Amino acid sequence: MSSLSEEQQIDRLTRLLDVSRQLSATLELDSLLQLIIEVASELTFSESCLILLYDPQTKSLEFIASPGVRSKEIKTIRVPIEGSIAGAVFKKGSPLIVQNAHSDPRLFRGVDQFIQHTTKSILAVPMMIQDRTIGVIELVNKKDGNNFSKEDQTTLSILASHAAVAIQNTNLLVTLKKANEELKALDRLKSDFIAIASHELRTPLGIVLGHATYLEDILEDREGREQAEIIIQHGERLKNIIEDLGNIDTFQSGKSRLRKSSIDICKLIQEVVQEYQEMAETKNISISIDNPQGELKTTGDKEKLHIAFGNILKNALIYTNDRGKIHIKTNRVGNFIETSIIDNGIGIPESDLEKIFERFYQVESHLTRRYGGMGLGLSIAKDMVMFHEGKIWVESVLGKGSRFTVL
Ligand code: ADP
Repeated sequence: MSSLSEEQQIDRLTRLLDVSRQLSATLELDSLLQLIIEVASELTFSESCLILLYDPQTKSLEFIASPGVRSKEIKTIRVPIEGSIAGAVFKKGSPLIVQNAHSDPRLFRGVDQFIQHTTKSILAVPMMIQDRTIGVIELVNKKDGNNFSKEDQTTLSILASHAAVAIQNTNLLVTLKKANEELKALDRLKSDFIAIASHELRTPLGIVLGHATYLEDILEDREGREQAEIIIQHGERLKNIIEDLGNIDTFQSGKSRLRKSSIDICKLIQEVVQEYQEMAETKNISISIDNPQGELKTTGDKEKLHIAFGNILKNALIYTNDRGKIHIKTNRVGNFIETSIIDNGIGIPESDLEKIFERFYQVESHLTRRYGGMGLGLSIAKDMVMFHEGKIWVESVLGKGSRFTVL
């Protein structure tokens, strides 16, 4: 038989429900624990409630929530595991009721002055996370002088499990925040490194290219000019790589740097094709454009879209054999403009289709590669398209060719 009236039982359940609602609504640990001790005292008619957490460093229990004005001072007290009531509950992981606390040698007497009561009786239950005890929650003295009942113990156990969840959530949040900050710091370091490295490489490379071009111009003998030309060619490759690196950095600083204006995608495609015309001629690859005189206007960052289409077209040229074909189609599709760059090149294995937009991903391993590059071109193209909230995807058949589409 319960010692509580039906009304009291309903009141208890309602208040417990209140606490669990609060628990899922806030991550503010101190106020949650404060609520738990208030509700615990109120529902069990106790004079005080205290929450103790195990500190693995000092191997003792510390108060993390207590009622009254001196709650700050009580936090400096450490309750030993051996020889204390809370310690016994912590070690055994099971509840304990001590009705005559003053005659129990395990009573830790340092607390009374802070809670402004003389401890007469204690009900203590463990706070558990799964099967691990993390602390103890204690009730001190029944107001009506009665003994602590089984119902009080059940009520306190429910509140103890709420407190444990709140503590665990906070710990997880702290760990997550720390990990997040570490990641952000690493990301900043990486961005700084990329920005500094690409900036520092650009200047001397410009000088090398400038001098090599000068030499190529003034040298009379053919062999000398060929040597200078090789320096220029490889210098240009290096310049492209450095530019790619610079563009990754641009992405880190995000969409905020998008400079939008009205642009005609058909015209943009023509400009991109123009840029790569020489490369196409060297490989004898024909580039045809659907609707070359058309006009399809939208708003966007011209430079960034130029980089996106440029990287896709450059790949089409690299991964298509001599005398191959590239076709570019641009259409309006509803409210969007869709551009496809289609080649009849080497194609991409199906298992790689998902991954080629990842940074530094290349279908052929770096060691056995027949083609240059760093695996950045498509990831940059994707970034640039994502800035515009667009989409980019690929369809490809190995040995037949690929179709890259930007929406
Ligand atoms: P990379 O610098 O290696 O070209 P990208 O990010 O531009 O880097 O491309 C990633 C990989 O996707 C390339 O290494 C290549 O294997 C594959 N790829 C990209 N475009 C094509 C294409 N048009 N045809 C075949 N393979 C392609």
